[in-house]
Amino acid sequence: MIINNFYGPFPKLPPTNVHNMIFRRPGAPEIPDHVSQIDGKTGEKRTRQEFLERVYDGATALGASVEDGGLGLSGEKGDMVGILSYNSIEYIALIHAMLVITTPFAPMSAHSTPLELAHLLSKSGVTHIFVESALLPKALDTIKKAGLTNKHIFLLDGPGSHGIHSFDSLVKHARQRKLKRVDVRPVKHDTLAYLMFSSGTSGLPKAVAVSHSNVNASLVQYLMGVRETMKVYTPPTVPGGIYKTLAVLPFSHTYALHILILRPLLAPSTIVVLPKWDINLAIDTIQKYKINSLPIVPSMIHSLVHSERFSKADFSSVIGFGSGAAYLPPALAQRLKSKVTTARLATGYGLSEGTISAIQTPVEGLLDGKIKDVPKNTAGILLAGLQARLVKDDGNDAAVNEPGELWLKGPHVTLGYWNDENATKSAFLPDGWLRTGDRFRIDERGFFFFEDRSKDTLKVSGLQVSPAEIEDVLISHPEGLIIDASVAGVSGSRTSDEKSPRAWVVLSKKGKAVGKKDVKIRLNAWVEENLSRYKWLRGGIQFVDEIPKSATGKVLRRLLVDEYEKKSAAKA
Ligand code: AMP
Repeated sequence: MIINNFYGPFPKLPPTNVHNMIFRRPGAPEIPDHVSQIDGKTGEKRTRQEFLERVYDGATALGASVEDGGLGLSGEKGDMVGILSYNSIEYIALIHAMLVITTPFAPMSAHSTPLELAHLLSKSGVTHIFVESALLPKALDTIKKAGLTNKHIFLLDGPGSHGIHSFDSLVKHARQRKLKRVDVRPVKHDTLAYLMFSSGTSGLPKAVAVSHSNVNASLVQYLMGVRETMKVYTPPTVPGGIYKTLAVLPFSHTYALHILILRPLLAPSTIVVLPKWDINLAIDTIQKYKINSLPIVPSMIHSLVHSERFSKADFSSVIGFGSGAAYLPPALAQRLKSKVTTARLATGYGLSEGTISAIQTPVEGLLDGKIKDVPKNTAGILLAGLQARLVKDDGNDAAVNEPGELWLKGPHVTLGYWNDENATKSAFLPDGWLRTGDRFRIDERGFFFFEDRSKDTLKVSGLQVSPAEIEDVLISHPEGLIIDASVAGVSGSRTSDEKSPRAWVVLSKKGKAVGKKDVKIRLNAWVEENLSRYKWLRGGIQFVDEIPKSATGKVLRRLLVDEYEKKSAAKA
């Protein structure tokens, strides 16, 4: 059964550069100049016009030919630009400059350890990289080992130093030399816009290849949703008519890229950028700038409502909360709503492989009243432009109210995994369906309910954790303490719904001699040295005689998890 879309037909979109879709699309309303971005820490502001100047200067500095004094970057030539930085307003300018010159970028988590960074660099094959200066000392060695020289490394902030240029110094240089501004480059249907790292349903992190057309489809999907929403819901006006959004989600994740870096520019709005999540700084910034909209992830909502300052904080300016990237437990949603009674809470489901959003909680009365009596705890309805199927393990479509894996089809389904044919084949089917690895059920009216994830990968703090990546690190412990390892998510994390990574390991002879207690300490230390904090083994380490495997050698993680969950439920 193919689940049809409440929104009806989706427009056919001719290939267009994302820049033109945002800033020059026919019929787009004229947007007067206004403060578009504020650095929430330093107070630095950029108006829309100043931002656009920066984008065009940046595009010129990066995209003009070498003979003309630019860097000569071009996607067609095979250039790929990595970005390793916490959030900043310069990050936004760089991304838009790359879009103008159709040179793909690959945002990388600023928390990456050298081991993780090496993997991301090799998966994406970046030819150039922009790095936040504070992160460079830790990253430089790894970047150089990936074959990049000082000529290919740039700072994203500051004036540049030690023979390394910065975005600012490149822009200044382009201005001083009065380089002729580059034009917005044309695109074809499959012109790559960026790579987004995702572990998909299994295995190590891979780079999802997202085209300009995918992004445009998501922007149109968003605009259609807004238009419909506005018909039934007119949000209270805010001073100056310009919404202020807190930009605290990591820019290296698809949620932030779309919600904070691309979509806000479709209408007058201001984003207040914080480098990363810090509960006190976030509350101070919400109060200081009278933030109206707060897109965050469930783990942030969890830390917010459990913060000592939460009950006394002034959230009266907040009109809308958005929660995405992970399941939001109803009890947590309720706790937030009971404090911030005037704000609307919208939740969304999506994935990098589908560009961003696929399902969203709708407003009552949406789509000419077709959406009414919205059921409690629904994940929402399918967003414009998408078709869906729920497929059972036996390959048949699920019936109403029966769970199945969500498959998606539409112009938002991305190009596949970059340079990874096998992984692409298993998730992106030849007839256009994308297997999400997430299980839902739908009711008779087409409302979706999230069930669970059938994939190996888990989410911690809204970020993907790949068991295979942790297993690789465990197995590679230099002392050879274990001979096999399996990792999976188990219950009992901070936010109660999120899973925590737990490892089952088989001791080697050496490991047995060292003893279980010390092996645990050494394995944990090794994981903590090599992997970002959210991948640490909060679910514990367990010793087993062997890792259960199927006849084909596939690790039966489910068996390990079920046994563990049963035992912990019996103890509780
Ligand atoms: P990413 O590509 O990092 O955005 O991760 C996508 C995955 O996050 C999805 O495949 C889901 O497993 C999970 N996810 C995203 N949004 C939700 C949601 N609202 N409820 C449950 N899981 C979600």
